[in-house]
Amino acid sequence: MTHDPNCIFCKIIAGQIPSRKVYEDDELYAFHDIHPWAPVHFLIVPKAHIPSMAQLTPAHERLMGRLMVLAPRLALEQGCLPYPEGGFRIVCNTGEHGGQEVHHLHVHVIGGPRPWRKG
Ligand code: ADP
Repeated sequence: MTHDPNCIFCKIIAGQIPSRKVYEDDELYAFHDIHPWAPVHFLIVPKAHIPSMAQLTPAHERLMGRLMVLAPRLALEQGCLPYPEGGFRIVCNTGEHGGQEVHHLHVHVIGGPRPWRKG
């Protein structure tokens, strides 16, 4: 599995930097964001070092499908209320113009009672 020794999220996945783990399996890792924008805010990342969505190929379809199906399950477990009254937001910043700061593909899962807004 690809690993970038200089990547902060690779270090989190490897346990070299502490994180508040939400979920882990052989391909995916989820952990609470260190600067939450909302009452629920965690990140889901592939364990493999993929810099962003821009590097995805058809070979990643199953992995990214698993990630997206995992998101609502973990959102409920983390206290987001059920659809339609409850819910959550998915954000996946990609590249400089997309506001991506950590260049290891990650999906933000954000929710909880509103109002909330980044910043
Ligand atoms: P932005 O910071 O603009 O949201 P990204 O989409 O790249 O850009 O998001 C990176 C996210 O990673 C941020 O929400 C940040 O709070 C989070 N983060 C950075 N370092 C850590 C860490 N050590 N543990 C948990 N979350 C982290």
